[in-house]
Amino acid sequence: SQTKRFSRAVGMDIFVATLFPLLYQNFLTTSLVKRAIDKKIFSVSILNMFDAVPPGKRIDSPIVGHGAGMLLGAPILEKTIESVVTQNKGKKPFTIFFSPHGKQLNQTILKDLSSRIKIEEKNLLLLSGRYEGFDARAEEAYADEIISIGDYVLCGGDLPVMVFIEGFIRLLNGVV
Ligand code: SAM
Repeated sequence: SQTKRFSRAVGMDIFVATLFPLLYQNFLTTSLVKRAIDKKIFSVSILNMFDAVPPGKRIDSPIVGHGAGMLLGAPILEKTIESVVTQNKGKKPFTIFFSPHGKQLNQTILKDLSSRIKIEEKNLLLLSGRYEGFDARAEEAYADEIISIGDYVLCGGDLPVMVFIEGFIRLLNGVV
């Protein structure tokens, strides 16, 4: 499947990388989020990370080192992020990985991130994990921040991404 774009922004472009694009359909077409997208305050492009998987290959790979389970593999993450950089005119957007071991989100962090991203005039990339999370090498190479939404473990990063978007966009001029 192709990247699904919800409106074209005059303002900020937000890219979301996920394994489950459908989860965002209602979220992005309802209430304040929809209104702000319609007003072109920001746009959201949903990228399906399965698009980065070569034919016949798996999206997940076994954990390197200690621990059981599967990770989102570094090559998939690299390819996904590089495709966003291409769509973003060759610039790396401010990149946030969502993980229970990240910095715990609160209003101060939201405000700090919002002004930092505004000053740097960057677009935003939000990566939603699944399985046992991201290959740590990809986090080290690409994450500007690693964010947790609370001290508990969910099945995936899509709800954390939506929580972040709701909090973040309220701080953009004209949304509320
Ligand atoms: N063992 C992994 C760890 O401790 O990082 C848990 C991975 S969790 C089952 C799968 C994905 O859900 C994570 O990669 C992350 O994207 C997301 N996730 C789960 N809980 C979260 C939280 N509290 N905050 C942010 N993201 C979370």
